[in-house]
Amino acid sequence: MEYNLLPGTDIKVSKICLGTMTWGRQNTEIEGHNQMDFALEHGVNFFDTAELYPIPPRENEQGDTERFIGSWFKKSGNRSKIILASKIAGPSSFTQHIRKDKSYSKKSIDNAVENNLKRLQTDYMDLYQIHWPERNTNFFGKRGYNYKNGEVWEENFEVILDALKEHTKKGNIRYIGISNETPWGTMRYLRASENDRPRVRTIQNPYSLLNRTFEVGNSEICHREDFGLLAYSPLAFGVLSGKYRGGKKPENARLTLFPNYDRYSSDPCKKAVEAYYTLAEKNGLTLTQLSLAFVNDRPFVTSNIIGATTISQLRENIETASIKLSDEILEEINIIHESIPNPST
Ligand code: NAP
Repeated sequence: MEYNLLPGTDIKVSKICLGTMTWGRQNTEIEGHNQMDFALEHGVNFFDTAELYPIPPRENEQGDTERFIGSWFKKSGNRSKIILASKIAGPSSFTQHIRKDKSYSKKSIDNAVENNLKRLQTDYMDLYQIHWPERNTNFFGKRGYNYKNGEVWEENFEVILDALKEHTKKGNIRYIGISNETPWGTMRYLRASENDRPRVRTIQNPYSLLNRTFEVGNSEICHREDFGLLAYSPLAFGVLSGKYRGGKKPENARLTLFPNYDRYSSDPCKKAVEAYYTLAEKNGLTLTQLSLAFVNDRPFVTSNIIGATTISQLRENIETASIKLSDEILEEINIIHESIPNPST
């Protein structure tokens, strides 16, 4: 396993990060524990979770993913071996049950951090992330920008960082990250941190062969501001394993269970999957290997957040850390990307 520095810190994180959002819904507590054991044994020291998880969110299960991580820390004594990232949820129709005040006010942040730590059975989180922007903007697959006159949102980048600064002082959190952000939001956070506020270190956004929109604006920020991408959904919800090809509906797979998660199911996505599948096959790789190896080694990626529902998936995904794609394969990937650019966003 290779390790990258969390930008601007001395923390080394594995270039594969273990995503956890299926635990509590598609996976049991024991399965989650087995995944953490397996990942740690294979060099993965970085786990990503959120107060919102598991996904899809349901009121009676909210926080279970963090609880499973907490029970594993308690059982294994492995807290100090893990770089742990979690998140506060923002406003949405699917977060009504978490807090009445869904803005990122100081009160919300204090409440969220206290509950994250309780469920996780730890007294600190290494990275604490703002799950998505509070304002009206593009994220979760939304294309285009809807101008909304009279939007009820007051700029609060400083307020958020001030509240988080208190938690860094108390030792509750070590570093701060953002997620599902646009270049404008990212730069505003960076600007807000100039006046003795903590700096945001990472951005957790979608990035895969089917969605390379990150490269357009945010990747330059990574390069010029010592900032890093934690890439999520690198297999496009499993579509880039190739298992849904030809209209197949594998039993218990995410898109069979939750067909409304259709961010990567359009015809252009299907067409791109066929092209990448052919390229992988021609080079003796599985589509999963091609897809994850591509994300692992992009220069702006600090860590690739993979997800798995079985140990055999987890093994295949972690093993991609040692695959290097040749310049010829990268060139062919770019040719496909040119002809079917970002079929998902
Ligand atoms: P993904 O890589 O796009 O999809 C993972 C899913 O694909 C697995 O749960 C599994 O689902 C299937 N899969 C994985 N490996 C496979 C393999 N080798 N062969 C066949 N199928 C395979 O990633 P993701 O789960 O969407 O996201 C990963 C993590 O990123 C999450 O756990 C979470 O920590 C983070 N995330 C963050 C955000 C955010 O808003 N910040 C959003 C999404 C995710 P099935 O077995 O059900 O097919």
